[in-house]
Amino acid sequence: VVLPGLANVHSHAFHRALRGRTHAPGDGGDTFWTWRERMYALAGRLDPDSYRDLATAVFAEMALTGITGVGEFHYLHHGPGGVPYRDPNAMAESLRAAAVAAGLRLTLLDTCYLTGGIGTPLTGVQRRFGDVDAAGWARRFADLAAREDRSAGFRVGAAVHSVRAVPAGQIVEVVAAARDGDPARPLHVHLSEQVAENTDCLRAYGTTPTRLLVDHGVLGPHATAVHATHLTACEVEVLGGSGAAVCLCPTTERDLADGIGPAGALHDAGARLVVGTDQHAVIDLVEEARAVEMHERLVSGIRGRFDPGQLVGMITGHAALGWDDAGRIEVGARADLVSIRLDSVRTAGCRPDQALLAASAADVDVVVVDGRTVVESGRHLLVDDAAARLARAISPLE
Ligand SMILES: [Zn+2]
Repeated sequence: VVLPGLANVHSHAFHRALRGRTHAPGDGGDTFWTWRERMYALAGRLDPDSYRDLATAVFAEMALTGITGVGEFHYLHHGPGGVPYRDPNAMAESLRAAAVAAGLRLTLLDTCYLTGGIGTPLTGVQRRFGDVDAAGWARRFADLAAREDRSAGFRVGAAVHSVRAVPAGQIVEVVAAARDGDPARPLHVHLSEQVAENTDCLRAYGTTPTRLLVDHGVLGPHATAVHATHLTACEVEVLGGSGAAVCLCPTTERDLADGIGPAGALHDAGARLVVGTDQHAVIDLVEEARAVEMHERLVSGIRGRFDPGQLVGMITGHAALGWDDAGRIEVGARADLVSIRLDSVRTAGCRPDQALLAASAADVDVVVVDGRTVVESGRHLLVDDAAARLARAISPLE
């Protein structure tokens, strides 16, 4: 069965190096917050060269699973101690080179990340994420935005890391810089992944993260809220009515013990649901969409909350990455195609229209990105032996 190429709407490429290393109690895997310490230690070891090598292998893995476009939520901007590289966007350029090498379209969501928590300065490795203030971020962002090259598959978007990491008083400046010269530029934000974010926000600002982001102009058309796990019924209505997309990352949200987001309620409230592999404990968008449906079944006791066509919509959310002409098979749209085998041990006997309820990324056969065949017979044509590349990139980062 042939589908439109898949869109991985939320990725932090370097988190891939933590796969299979943080899942046992006692090795940093106990909660989201202890996992985050392991992630910071990893971030401290990367430089532009090692990040390019790692991201090339990660993006190659994505292509092998049918992904044709990725949104990289990028905040590892600077060198050790927060000292900018000679090119302040050197790390972003590493990601761009990696996407080119792996044959994917890239939307680089340049992320403003100024505080370690509400009212808490950046410390340690976090200093590599910061640009001092929103004005500093906006200057570096403008330099990167000028390098956008849509014809080469490179789109520049923006991100507010979260209400934890950007003071409310500076959010408006980030939004203005993001929209400057391109009102349709994608703007993404992590929202209510953890209960602690909600309680901290209420304590500091007297309002919830959803309300704060709506009031400061973040959430609207061309915006995407990532996770949206811990929302009240009222916030679901506000978010659904804002026109923003909501990017669920269920394999990450279960791996990090975040919780189960209100997917069905958000859909009913009008939110466009898309998915991302986020920290890459799994890179398999078929599993990601299936998890949305399966988690909804566990919560609601009802099967088939989302039909297979709606699951296809979730995994082809290229519009959330600023590519309105991708994600569907029709004349005039981008020639992004992925074929899924119906003769594997997983899919044999399935009806084509229900294959997504049975298939895995291992069943992806051919992947075409913008008319160019990148994967054939399950083999990447541009990157030889992605598994060996992953191993070579990850082992020096231990
Ligand atoms: Zn994330």
